[in-house]
Amino acid sequence: MYDEEESKYTRVRGAVKIEEEKGGYLYVQLRKFINVIDELRDVGLQEHISLPRIAVLGQQSSGKSSVLENIVGIDMLPRGAGLCTRRPLEMRLNHLYEDDAKPWAKFDEVPGEKFTDFSKVRDTIEKLTDKVAGTNKNIVDEPIVVYVYSPTCPDLTLVDLPGLTRIPLAGSNQPDNIYEVTKKMALKYVEDPRTIILCVIPANADMTTSDALQLSREIDPKGIRTVGVITKIDIMDHGTNARRMLMGQEVPLRLGYVGVKNRNQQSIIDKQSVKAALKEEREFFENHPIYSSINSNLLGTDVLTQKCTKIMFTHIKSHLPDIMREIKEKMGQINGRLKDLGPPMPSSSKEKAHLLYNMVTEFCNLFKSVIGGKYDSRRDRTQSKEIYGGARIKMLLENVYREYTGKYQATKDLTDLDIEKAIIMHEGDSLPGFPSVDVFVYLITPELKKLQDPALDLLAECHLYIEQLAEEIAQKIFSRFPAVVNDIMEIVSKVLMENRDKTGKVVEAIIESEEGYLFTNDREYMEKCTDIVPADDQDGKEGAPRKASRNQSYVNEIRKRLDMYFKIIVRGIRDSVPKAIGFFLVNGIQEHIQYELYAEVNKNETMAETLGEPPEVTAERRTLNTSLDTMKNALKVLQRDPEITATLDYDDDLSRDIKESLKEAKLQKEKASTPSPHPRGGAPHRGGDMRSQHSDSSRLDMSNMSMASDNSQNRRGPPNVGQPQRPGPNHMQNSGAPQRRPAQGPI
Ligand code: GDP
Ligand code: MG
Repeated sequence: MYDEEESKYTRVRGAVKIEEEKGGYLYVQLRKFINVIDELRDVGLQEHISLPRIAVLGQQSSGKSSVLENIVGIDMLPRGAGLCTRRPLEMRLNHLYEDDAKPWAKFDEVPGEKFTDFSKVRDTIEKLTDKVAGTNKNIVDEPIVVYVYSPTCPDLTLVDLPGLTRIPLAGSNQPDNIYEVTKKMALKYVEDPRTIILCVIPANADMTTSDALQLSREIDPKGIRTVGVITKIDIMDHGTNARRMLMGQEVPLRLGYVGVKNRNQQSIIDKQSVKAALKEEREFFENHPIYSSINSNLLGTDVLTQKCTKIMFTHIKSHLPDIMREIKEKMGQINGRLKDLGPPMPSSSKEKAHLLYNMVTEFCNLFKSVIGGKYDSRRDRTQSKEIYGGARIKMLLENVYREYTGKYQATKDLTDLDIEKAIIMHEGDSLPGFPSVDVFVYLITPELKKLQDPALDLLAECHLYIEQLAEEIAQKIFSRFPAVVNDIMEIVSKVLMENRDKTGKVVEAIIESEEGYLFTNDREYMEKCTDIVPADDQDGKEGAPRKASRNQSYVNEIRKRLDMYFKIIVRGIRDSVPKAIGFFLVNGIQEHIQYELYAEVNKNETMAETLGEPPEVTAERRTLNTSLDTMKNALKVLQRDPEITATLDYDDDLSRDIKESLKEAKLQKEKASTPSPHPRGGAPHRGGDMRSQHSDSSRLDMSNMSMASDNSQNRRGPPNVGQPQRPGPNHMQNSGAPQRRPAQGPI
């Protein structure tokens, strides 16, 4: 149970009165933090990053609106039998310090109007509800935002939510799945780890059946942001009381419960003021035979307000560093995107040409640095996790002919008989015993032919990948000018094709020269395989060997030479083919593309003329700039007072657990966004402080938790290398020369 430490301040109807002798440090800090959050809200940060707030969770008619109204201290919410909250209502409360200041309110949806008559506020809430949700009791998930300024209210943001409803109201437009609808809406608010949940439970029902309590235990299993509020204590069955509930003996809740007594329907009809109701509440508890004797920290709206403020304080402190970090991250993202969008469009043709020229330069630079592996801030971090750009090309190059390395034997498919036949065949009618080189040429040529396909496949694959890279970079750099992307890619593709064909010729020539001219300087080969008579026969002194045995030696020797020669060729070609591709294609295109693009920009005036950005780009830039201003202002707010961020490392149990939970939620979120080999939800619940856990140890699918920022925008997937394509025959035509008898080197 949340241990109410000796309060350093007392809160009287919202105003925090400092007990002078106790220094008021906490009070000053509290005000400061709440002000900071308010200011962050004022600069519009909530739209981008969620800020601490309080939301009520409870069944319909459990007394949610009543509790909130009591905290605000003003009658302002639509009430009456059958009138329920049908749109979320976000009440941004601002405490006014002059006790006699006149309360007033304003709505986002009613700009320019200052409400001092709170019955008009109530009417307006009803009107705004009907406007969006219709008059027929339908429930809609679009919040009404109202600002209240009053000496009676604390500095908090409270959200009144439609209640969890099991059965659609008869004759209404409420859907049959009303429970799912209301639950989803409530979850949207209470799932946010920065939202404190007021879990409203009527005392006149069995609390163990409360949907709200069940739900809050699921989304806040550690109980670090759930406060139980027991309503309707005054109308419990005779002979029963809420004592055990309040003490957490029925369902334990870490931050504990507060019991309140709100106005009943009759008092609302009779227009009893909140002020009178609060007085009545105090008297009710003070004079009650049972409640007067239990800890007064468990009872009354004042206690609840104070508790909320204190919890809020701890939460804000724990969240601020994250909020600060999120602001900076968002700013980074926005700046990156703005940079991609480039400066606003110039109008004169000279300026346009200049802009185009700059973009072409940027394109070429980025292209070069992606291939060269240089760090470039314009590249997304997500991409660098993949083998990308030049590193990927290198990987492709390294893998060529891998299947012909290691234990590969060129003669693995040749039987001795095959080789012997070849020997006999090439003896023709001449004298046996004189080895003919033609046997070797005849047997090695089909093997050498196998080397052609992998080389051409590799070239095709590199070409395709480079084209994809170029396209990706062009999309990024010229994102404002889709038409220009096409022009640029046309030139790039042309250059790439030219270079590919040129490279193809070189690669083919390499293979052809291997086929057409058998040669090696390999030392081992020269030493072991150049004698005319096979080594194992040289010391055969016992007369002429039998024919079969002579041929077997030749067979063995030729097999050995074939295998060795092929290995040597593969060793060489594994270097020469990638070198040719690297030099003529990968390197060649870089300068070539730049040259051709500049030439085209100079020559083709219409290209610059067509530069004009689509209206959505202009709009996006405007939105981004507005958001950026918001972030800058928010950062200013946070940096103005160094104490705000400096005093943050506040170490108490609650702060620690809040931080730990946030960390866990973040981890879960990250895990959910990267595919994991383990099925979701299988992760064990991590240790932590289980002291005040529910006995049945709550289960929680943390993947439900939504953190404020969504960093997923602006990310691109890894480049996708498609099927390798062979260059078309027109580019790679074989010379068509007849199969010449190859010239011979020493074999
Ligand atoms: P909500 O639907 O959860 O917002 O519930 P409301 O605050 O609108 O209250 C529903 C009904 O319960 C109203 O008629 C209230 O007057 C009544 N009510 C709420 N709290 C209490 C309470 O503590 N005691 C009594 N007697 N009635 C209450
Ligand atoms: Mg309500």
